Amino acid sequence: MGIRFFSTKDRPFHMGPYPLERLKRTSSMPDLNQVPASKQLDFHDLDTPHSLVNAMGEYQAMMDAIRDGAVNPTPATAPSDPQERSNHMKAFGYFQDTSMIGVCTLPRSALLVEPTRNSDIDRLANDIRTKQTKTLTSGIDQIMAALKESIEAPLEAIDHHTHAIVLLVEHHRDPKAHEPGSEWIMGTQDHRAALRGTETAVILAEYLHLLGFSARAHTSSSSDVDMNQLAVAAGLASVEKGRLFAPYIGEGFGLAVVTTNFEMAVDEPLAPWIDQPNSPAWWVGKGTSKSALNRDPYAKRRYVDGAHPFEKLKRVDTPTTYIDEERVARVPKRTDMFARAQFGDLGKKQQEAASGGWYARKSAHSFSQRRVLGAFVLLQDGESAAPAQRPTEAERNAENVKAASYFLGVDAVGISRCPDWTWYSHDATGTPIDPPHNNAISMIIDQGYETMEGASGDDWIAVAQSMRAYLRFSLLGGIIAKQIRNLGYKAKAHSVMDGEVLQPPLLLLSGLGEVSRIGEVILNPLLGPRLKSGAVTTDMPLAHDKPIDFGLQNFCESCNKCARECPSGAITAGPKRMFNGYEIWKSDSVKCTTYRITTEGGAMCGRCMKTCPWNLEGIFKEKPFRWAAMNMPKAAPILAKLDDTLGNGGVNDAKKWWWDLELKEDGGYKEPAAPINRRDLDPDLDLKFEDQTLAVYPANLAPWPYPYPFPMDREAGIQAYRDMISADEYKARLARGET
Ligand code: SF4
Ligand code: SF4
Repeated sequence: MGIRFFSTKDRPFHMGPYPLERLKRTSSMPDLNQVPASKQLDFHDLDTPHSLVNAMGEYQAMMDAIRDGAVNPTPATAPSDPQERSNHMKAFGYFQDTSMIGVCTLPRSALLVEPTRNSDIDRLANDIRTKQTKTLTSGIDQIMAALKESIEAPLEAIDHHTHAIVLLVEHHRDPKAHEPGSEWIMGTQDHRAALRGTETAVILAEYLHLLGFSARAHTSSSSDVDMNQLAVAAGLASVEKGRLFAPYIGEGFGLAVVTTNFEMAVDEPLAPWIDQPNSPAWWVGKGTSKSALNRDPYAKRRYVDGAHPFEKLKRVDTPTTYIDEERVARVPKRTDMFARAQFGDLGKKQQEAASGGWYARKSAHSFSQRRVLGAFVLLQDGESAAPAQRPTEAERNAENVKAASYFLGVDAVGISRCPDWTWYSHDATGTPIDPPHNNAISMIIDQGYETMEGASGDDWIAVAQSMRAYLRFSLLGGIIAKQIRNLGYKAKAHSVMDGEVLQPPLLLLSGLGEVSRIGEVILNPLLGPRLKSGAVTTDMPLAHDKPIDFGLQNFCESCNKCARECPSGAITAGPKRMFNGYEIWKSDSVKCTTYRITTEGGAMCGRCMKTCPWNLEGIFKEKPFRWAAMNMPKAAPILAKLDDTLGNGGVNDAKKWWWDLELKEDGGYKEPAAPINRRDLDPDLDLKFEDQTLAVYPANLAPWPYPYPFPMDREAGIQAYRDMISADEYKARLARGET
């Protein structure tokens, strides 16, 4: 995000990162016929086979294929106030990281006589008709069936649509030809912006379908409307010297649109640029997260380095927690707790809650994201091309991977070996895995600071916070995997729905974080624990990064805020122990999973991430915290205490933008029956390790690899917890030949 001098804690989220409210507007609509027509974008660059555009094409086509969908016949009890509706849809778009959003009525002049259609959809439809998935995720079969149906369904006219939501995605700096890692991304700005706008437009359209409204996404490659006209009508751009120009940004941006019959308050068009005020507040960033100083995180940084100063972190040869690589016990994919819940291993209540992916379907926000996420499962892996020459320089390949990932929008990237012990032993079908790739590209997606501020961590937005990040990885990680396959190597993106590697150890090896008290959550010093990860495995030669040490082990030993704030009591208040060959603070994953899928006052949970002192806004005033936490080990208990005293991790109502709606038995999204989880901090709770009863399920208690029930033995799990030993004791026993 770059430098920021002012907090934006009081700015309502729907107002977005730019001060659009300060712009001068006009009540008279400009002549839209004078707006330069939008042009269709082609996602093939045959002259440059290594261009990232060629890898984006399949994903763009998949999203274009599902830009419309079935309307829920049971309407939601959504607010009817047009302004509230407009604010809500904008906030959802900003949650998805759109730069600017405007709403307008749909002028008839913007309807294209000849709609554009992505010609790759037909080829894609042929490909996926025969594709099978290897996922344990419940409900994916229904998504796939609906997906195949909707790809083939003809689109109706949108004459009944009355409104348009216009999404603008800004460009960052143009990559320079001699910049390390720029080989794949040169000349791909328009495609990147189109792709990211499409992601959001498809989600918003599906969200409106779920609420019971007609809606369709329009993109740079498939559209029924002239998007440039709508950008002017919705007050996002003006025509200056015959070209489209967006305030604060200029000419470098892409557009996507959602048309709908969902009535909303509209924005007025912009006055010409010459009449716009020159605001000093914009230059210093008063009141907004974006300013002239920080607008482009890559203005003074190389894409290969990312937006955050990761290069300043201390690198070490081995992770800060012990891993007995030779004895790590590989377990089957079937050990995934969500899969276990769905097969009934955790009990009937959990099985019902997990069945059909109910925990994601019960929130309309997350279910709208899940449709796209499901579609991407079909693209995660595939055949490799056979180019005349493959790129063989490990250093150069790593630079290209990193620069492309950051350019697309990944928040942190690290590269490591991918040892056999990081792979599951069996895949989702129960077939043994013979690790096919030796390198891993780990990626982190930030779950978003502002929405986390507005949330309690376990309310009605929690599941969409996770789903947004999982989806972003599936899209961007999937494109990187496809790019590597286009260059002649094997590569697979391991997403939340279909993955065959354990991500925490890969994150450690690639220097993206350290083990935290939260348990399986690896904490990044610049993004905190507020993240989701994914990995791309490959046989492409790649230079590796090293693990990092930023003092977290000491900090977590002096702090147990996440354990105190966990609503299910799943996080240990005790010391680290050895589990399956790893030294970690082992949490009770059954307690956590049970709470996440069965909580009635919300959907899912990430309260541990929300309340951790490392969940920072990233503004200037918080740099001292980070510096002290990293450089002054003795300050850790004081900093942890100070964080509590300041009330950090509480709920900020100014940032609550989502509607609390729950899926009912009649199929409609309505007011939840149970009181909503909006809990505040509990600093007076003195949680003691001795009072906790936790259970763990090491490899000897793992289920069989097959997709059939395997009930858990909680008593054995409790005993297994008591039997765990410290890393020192473990090493001593190894030395004595006892393990
Ligand atoms: Fe929620 Fe699980 Fe974290 Fe506890 S450990 S706060 S239940 S996500
Ligand atoms: Fe570590 Fe405290 Fe964050 Fe928990 S809340 S992960 S103990 S720093």
